[in-house]
Amino acid sequence: MNSIVGAIQPSATLAISARAKELAAQGQCIHSFAAGEPDFDTPQVIKDAACRAIAEGQTKYTAAKGMPSLCRAVADKFRAVNGIAYDPATEIIVSSGGKQSLYYAFQALLERGDEVLIPSPYWLSYPEMVRIAGGRPRFVRTSSRTGYKLTPAQLEKAVRPRTKVLVLNYPSNPTGAVYAADELRALGEVAVARGLWIVADEMYERMVYTDEPFRSLASLSPALRARTVTVNGVSKAFSMTGWRIGYAGAPAEVVRAMSTCQSHCASNPCTPAQFAALCALTNPEAERAVLPMLAAFRERAGRIHALLRAIRGVRVARPEGAFYIFPNVKSFGLDSVSFCRRLLEEKGVAAVPGAPFGDDGCVRLSYACSMQNIEEGLALFKEFCDSLR
Ligand code: PLP
Repeated sequence: MNSIVGAIQPSATLAISARAKELAAQGQCIHSFAAGEPDFDTPQVIKDAACRAIAEGQTKYTAAKGMPSLCRAVADKFRAVNGIAYDPATEIIVSSGGKQSLYYAFQALLERGDEVLIPSPYWLSYPEMVRIAGGRPRFVRTSSRTGYKLTPAQLEKAVRPRTKVLVLNYPSNPTGAVYAADELRALGEVAVARGLWIVADEMYERMVYTDEPFRSLASLSPALRARTVTVNGVSKAFSMTGWRIGYAGAPAEVVRAMSTCQSHCASNPCTPAQFAALCALTNPEAERAVLPMLAAFRERAGRIHALLRAIRGVRVARPEGAFYIFPNVKSFGLDSVSFCRRLLEEKGVAAVPGAPFGDDGCVRLSYACSMQNIEEGLALFKEFCDSLR
């Protein structure tokens, strides 16, 4: 067994979901806040586009980096929505989910032993991807005082000779934090001055609840564009998690290396799914269909925050984006795994422990679920917290 892969932990979020499913199968009423995907169906127009592609025989290999038509649609989206001009022929790659783009980016950028700075709390797949790619994750702890955002001073202090890459994920899974343009600019200046690459994971860009519009890091200056891999996808934006289409924009040398990895490891992303993604990015009907979903997330963010804030002993920031909230429950004296295990067994509420995201004092609740689930589940969550005091 390879020692790097052997040491990697399987996704810790799956254990609690598996137990929640087991209890539901036994007939217990479960209120789940564990989902990492929108609770909305993929818009019909997108499904129809995939069915049509299959019927028309679009069932063969495509170019390794994705169909030229889809690469063009992705480049058009980056230009129109994010203000970044990428050449579709050389600076865009489409892959099997944003996950695959992230993984190829680390493969492309890292030499064995290179360090990757990951602001903590973090999405739990980053450190494992970095390790598989031969790199070394280093965590930089952020705090609720800065809204779980990395500061330029922290970044400056964290850089060492082998530091190669900074990962920035905004809106954040699990904290919901979103960097404003001036915060991004300040971090970007340090990153450029210290010669770092930046992997910008913008997967939740559509789910932003602040007054300031979402800004892409690479749009802020030519120097940042030249050192950034911008990762995104249709999974969250169009409720297409199972279709497995993500994409990235980056300088040509990086995209070339990422495409080479993909050509040997996967050939290309699923062809009918690429047609579905093409529809998502180009058909105005697809865009219109997801607007109610985005509005629902915004409303739920406010409600779940209000309900959590009203519980004595819970400290929680208002989510600025994504569909997660990350309350601190440390005052109850349990580690996050015990807290979630007991919450599930005693109240039938499934939340995800914060430990695998880098903060054992917090738990992650996804509000990709109905308002009724939020109202009922949070009443039970409050009962549980009250029982611990
Ligand atoms: N980045 C973040 C922060 C995520 O939370 C996820 C999925 O949960 C991804 C990337 C990967 O998304 P995809 O389903 O497109 O692989």
